[in-house]
Parts: sequence; C-alpha cells; structure tokens
Amino acid sequence: MMSDPYRQLLDATIQHLEDLKSRGVRHVAVSLETLRALAQPEAFQTSNSKSEIVRSPTTGEPGNAPARAGFQKRAEAVLGAPPTRSAIHAPVAEQAALLALPGETVPSQSPALDPQAKAAAFAALRERALACVKCPHLAASRKNVAFGVGSIDAQIMFVGEAPGADEDEQGEPFVGKAGQLLTKIIQAMGLQRADVYIGNILKCRPDTPGQTAGNRKPSAEEMATCIPYLHEQIDLIRPRVIVALGAVAVEGLLGKSLGITKLRGTWKTYRGIPLMPTYHPAYLLRNQALSEKRRVWEDMLAVMEKIEMPISQKQRNFFLKG
Ligand code: URA
Repeated sequence: MMSDPYRQLLDATIQHLEDLKSRGVRHVAVSLETLRALAQPEAFQTSNSKSEIVRSPTTGEPGNAPARAGFQKRAEAVLGAPPTRSAIHAPVAEQAALLALPGETVPSQSPALDPQAKAAAFAALRERALACVKCPHLAASRKNVAFGVGSIDAQIMFVGEAPGADEDEQGEPFVGKAGQLLTKIIQAMGLQRADVYIGNILKCRPDTPGQTAGNRKPSAEEMATCIPYLHEQIDLIRPRVIVALGAVAVEGLLGKSLGITKLRGTWKTYRGIPLMPTYHPAYLLRNQALSEKRRVWEDMLAVMEKIEMPISQKQRNFFLKG
C-alpha cells in the first residue's frame, strides 16, 4: 500500500505537472534517480512516516481546494516554484535546470533504452512532430516537416537553424546549397550523412508571408515551441558530441550568448554533452575566405579528437595555405 505522505507527494507532483502543462511546458527533465525514487513508495514511507499530512477540513481528502494550497506550497518547496512565463520561453537547457528536482543534476538524461524501444520511441516522436500544429501559421505554410535525418545511434549530431525552401520541399534538413556544403564537411571528416544525425531547432520552415523567396530567422516563440522535439531527439540519440551550426542553434540550445564569432571553437556543454559551436555553412557560402573555412575545419578536428576518431595528416592540413 502507498503511504499517505507518498500519495500526498504524488498528488502534489501531479498538480505541479498539470500546472506546468497548462502553461505550455511539454517536457520535464527527470533523472534516473528520481524515477527510481518515485517507483519506491516504501523508501519514502520509512524516511518520512512522521510527515504532517495536509487534509481538507471538510472531506479529509488531499487534493481539494483548501488542501491544494498546502500541497501547492509543499510541492513548490519540494519541486521548486512553477516557472515564470519567461522561464517557459527559456531555451530547453535552462528549462531543464529550472525544472530539475532536488538532488537532480541538470545533465541528467532519461535511462538508455534497448535498441528496439529506442527505435520505437524515435518513430513515435517523429510521428508526433510530423502531425504538429502548435505553430498554426507554420503548419499552414509548410509543405513538409523536416524532422531530422541520419543515424539514431550517431556519435555526432549536427544542429542547424530551420528548414529552408529546399528542406521544406523534401522534408529533410540540410539538402539545399548550405546542406550540400555540410555534406562535404561531413565527408571530409571521413563520414557519410547516414553516420551522423542532422536536425534543426525548428522542424518547419519559417513562413515568409507576401514573399515568394527568402528565409527568415525563427522567432523566440517558435523556437520555444519547437525545441522540446529536439530535446527529445537528443535524449534518445545520446550523441557524444553536438555541433551547433550558427548563432540560432547556439541560442536555441544554450540561450542567448556572446555571438557566434566569440563562441565558435570553444567547447560548451548541453545537458552533459560536449557542444561545439561553429559557423553555419550558409555563412561559409557567403564568405569564401580560406581563413573562415579553416576555422570551421579546426572545429571539426576538435570534434574528431573529442571522440577519438583517427585523423590523417592530410586532414590536419586541410585549408592551410600552401
Ligand atoms: N539551414 C539550416 O539551418 N537548416 C537546414 O535544414 C537548412 C538550411
């Protein structure tokens, strides 16, 4: 049987999660330790059996109005106060920190799944994203959702900004001109697109009403709405390294920062995973300077070193002046 304090904490947790849900939060980071603790009411009973139980004066049941205020207070004491609106629009890494449970470290990930369960979870996530209408304007304007492409067991995950016209047409990230350059970079590393995973902060092309061509930067609201899908992709794939391509990818994953020129080439961490910010391939198409290509290449060499990939002398010398 569940102990009263356990049921009380469970009620309070459910209440808090319902509250988060009603505020638009769709993903909460929960550590393996927390899941284990939740599955063990006995442990809670032993250590908390003397806890005061908040009951309604009328029904004696937890969960109705007067008791709920008590639960809310206790839940907040245990789980932290519900996030403010700005927290909900914070990047996913910050959301994870704000929603962390006591004793939970932010880098926590869900437990690793066996290959079959992982493939099924990924397929289910893909189905959800393909049917998503959370941004009605984007759902109306898109031709396809560009969910992501590559190996769900990849060690390296590339994250870009959002699909452009070509990606919208084909339903696959990085297939246009910038994508072709990204493919060349991946091949120069000795890999194929199918060896890595390629995704974006936004799964739908940002609409450009009244324009027949061109792209626009995703809005903060669009990013906050879509990023839980990327969060889940990362959680399932569990790459060893993330490469954030350009300022929007860095902003989406790490929050507003110094700017890509200052950040590129410096290791960051996204929920415990090493993250390398680098220039977006579209920038390299606009700026053909050898020095900029070399910078991106140095970032890729650092990625290869991080995961102990073999690097030839020829690879080390790419884009160095003759
Ligand atoms: N630019 C991006 O950031 N992502 C794509 O998928 C294509 C171009």
